[in-house]
Amino acid sequence: MPETSTRLTAFSESVIRGMTRMANQHNAINLSQGFPDFGPPEELLLALERATRGNFHQYSVTWGSPRFRTALAAKISRFTGLALDPDEHLVVTCGSTEAMMVAMMTACNPGDKVIVFSPFYENYAADAILSGAQPIFVPLQPPDLGISMEALAKAFEQKPKAIIVCNPSNPTGKVFTREELLQILRLAEEHDAFVITDEPYEHIVYAGHEHIPFAALPGAFDRTITCNSLSKTYSITGWRLGYVQASGAVIRQARKVHDFLTVGAAAPLQEAAIAGLELPDSYYEGLRELYSRKRQVFLELLRETGLSYTEPQGAYYVMLDVSALGFENDTAAAEWLVKDAGVAGVPGSSFFREPSGQMVRFHFAKSEDVLCEAGGRLAEGIARRLG
Ligand code: GLN
Repeated sequence: MPETSTRLTAFSESVIRGMTRMANQHNAINLSQGFPDFGPPEELLLALERATRGNFHQYSVTWGSPRFRTALAAKISRFTGLALDPDEHLVVTCGSTEAMMVAMMTACNPGDKVIVFSPFYENYAADAILSGAQPIFVPLQPPDLGISMEALAKAFEQKPKAIIVCNPSNPTGKVFTREELLQILRLAEEHDAFVITDEPYEHIVYAGHEHIPFAALPGAFDRTITCNSLSKTYSITGWRLGYVQASGAVIRQARKVHDFLTVGAAAPLQEAAIAGLELPDSYYEGLRELYSRKRQVFLELLRETGLSYTEPQGAYYVMLDVSALGFENDTAAAEWLVKDAGVAGVPGSSFFREPSGQMVRFHFAKSEDVLCEAGGRLAEGIARRLG
C-alpha cells in the first residue's frame, strides 16, 4: 500500500470543524465553528429565488460572473475608496478559505517562509504547508495583543515571501491600528514581501475601533493580496462566496490557481449575492449594531462565570480562560464543556503556537435566546465544577 503525502503529517484535521461534529453528537449548543444561526437579509433570499429561475445553472466565468464582479468592485470601492477594475483586480473564489489557498499558492515557492501572527486562524498554517511554504510564527503580546516590532523585524530578517494579517482577527478579536498596519507595511516594503490579508469580519467592528483595509494604505496596493468573503457580512457562510483582490499582475496568476482548484464559485449564488452587495450603508450599520448587542449580552453572561475572558474589538469571538477548572489541558476542558455543560467551544491551543495557558474560544453569532441559554449552562456547569 503506497503512503500518502508526507505534507499531510505536518497538520491535523480542523479542530474547529471537529468541535462542531462533537457538539452535534452531544446535542450541545454549538459556539465553536463561527457561523450565525440566523439567515441572510430578505433581499438575498428573494434574489436567490429569482436566480433559480434564471439562466445561471451552468459554469460562470471562471474568475467570477461579470455581473457579480462589477457589483463587488463597486461595493469594495464604496467602503475602501479603491478604484477597482472588476476585470483586472478580482477573482471570485469558494469562500475566503479558497481565497487564502489561492493567495498562498500564487505568492509562494516551495521552501518560502511566511510570517503568521500567533494566535492565528488554524487554516493559515495548513495553507502554508499545502503550498509548500513554511510558517514562521510571531506571538502577539498579551494581554493587549500588541505586536513586538522587534520580534516582527527579526522574523522579516528570515526573508519571508509573505506575511498573513487577519483583520479583524480570529480568534482574538484584535483590530489592528493604522500605526500597526503602517509598521507592517514598512517592513514588507523593506524586505519586498507580500502582505496577504484575510478580512471577512471587516464590517463587524465595535465602538472605538475602525477596520482599515490594508490595500488602501498609501503605496500598499501592489504588494497586498486581500482575501475576503461574503459569509459573515451577509450571513451566508454556506454559500461559499469569497474573493481575492490584488494588482493586475498578481490576479493574472491567481486566476490560474483558482481555475485548476475549483473552476468557479456557484453561479446562481453569485447572481443572488449581488442583492447583498447593493444593500445601502444602513445595512452595515444595522449589522454592527446587531453584533454589538450580542457582544454585550454574551460578555455580561460570561461575567457570571467568574472566569476572565477577552473583549473583542471586532469579529465575534471571545476567549474564556478556563485554567481555574483544573483540567490537564484546554482540549480536556473543551470536551468537558461539551459533554457536561452542554456548550461547545474550540480549545485555544489550536490557535496558538506558543504555550497559551488554557483558553476556550466561543463565538456569539447566535440569537439572544441561544446566547442566554448557553451563558446559563456555562455559569451552572462551571459553578458545579468549581463547587
Ligand atoms: N471562520 C469560522 C471559525 O473560525 C468558521 C470557519 C470554517 O469552518 N470555515 O470558526
